[in-house]
Amino acid sequence: MIKTNNQNQVSKGLELPVMEHFYTIQGEGANSGKPAYFVRLGGCDVGCTWCDVKESWSFDAHPNYSIETILNWVLESKAPNVVITGGEPSLYNLEPLTFAFKKHNIKTWIETSGTNEITGVWDWICFSPKKFKQPVLSSFEKAQELKVIVANKHDLAWGQELAQKVNKDCKFYFQPEWEKSKKTLPLVIEFVKQNPNWNISLQTHKFMQIP
Ligand code: SF4
Repeated sequence: MIKTNNQNQVSKGLELPVMEHFYTIQGEGANSGKPAYFVRLGGCDVGCTWCDVKESWSFDAHPNYSIETILNWVLESKAPNVVITGGEPSLYNLEPLTFAFKKHNIKTWIETSGTNEITGVWDWICFSPKKFKQPVLSSFEKAQELKVIVANKHDLAWGQELAQKVNKDCKFYFQPEWEKSKKTLPLVIEFVKQNPNWNISLQTHKFMQIP
């Protein structure tokens, strides 16, 4: 296992800080129910109040791993898909990592707030903007899935504003915030019944009690 702290290698995207990694089932959004290897990068500057991975926020707490090491984790698991999440993965140069996966025919998926230019080659870009930090414009152009977390009624209106800015092929999902879902799920159900171009995303991995 290779662990270093070489910031130069990180800026080139040859090493990346990883908080955790595991093979599981994608629980949310358009790829819900499909097997995927999750690589959670460390570091986030978005600061969502309801974030359930606050331990990912620190930029110093997570060891850097080489692209080869990360690739080998996924190859050994035999996962057909990889999800790069965070933290906020758009903070990093993801070209070398995604090129390495593509060479091995592994499908590359990202979950991002889109607050920085999304780099790399992606089979699926899940763009989940947050009110706490503005996304960059290019994220609206690149998104294949717009996933808006619903913590209150206003988030439904905000999501519709965002939907007007994304590209025409993008799919729309409202996802009730887990802790508030008793209150927000009925709102989302009613909204989607009235607006069938929107879909519901649930955190099904939490029901399955898997990571
Ligand atoms: S962007 Fe993601 S990791 Fe960062 S604070 Fe928000 S939910 Fe947490």
